[in-house]
Amino acid sequence: MKRNTWQREAVREALASNEGFVSAQSLHTGLREHGSTIGLATVYRALADLAAEGEADSLQSPEGEAIYRACSTTGHHHHLICRRCGLTVEIGADDVEQWAQRVASEHGFTDARHVVDVFGLCAKCSQASTAR
Ligand SMILES: [Zn+2]
Ligand SMILES: [Zn+2]
Ligand SMILES: [Zn+2]
Repeated sequence: MKRNTWQREAVREALASNEGFVSAQSLHTGLREHGSTIGLATVYRALADLAAEGEADSLQSPEGEAIYRACSTTGHHHHLICRRCGLTVEIGADDVEQWAQRVASEHGFTDARHVVDVFGLCAKCSQASTAR
């Protein structure tokens, strides 16, 4: 049975209203600012549930923190993420798929999965940093 508590709905909505990836911590802060009494542990659990059910993407930030996003694509995809403003572009990567399959089978691996996300500066942030 699916647990469908108000906390979970609140987390889902907060996630959907965010453009880029967010940490549980900052999602929690945002919810509290809007008057929610939700606890941080509940936010962590709800995010983990949403990710497990494929309703949210989760990945590690370059700082090693788990970050989450409600993605518009449900199939396998990759991300291009701006380190500064958090802008996220969902990308397909046929080359990566082929390469991953090839190296896995070269080493006798089956059922290979991979996580490939690219962090950088978006066009706007790149301009802003050179304009200084
Ligand atoms: Zn995604
Ligand atoms: Zn940016
Ligand atoms: Zn892939």
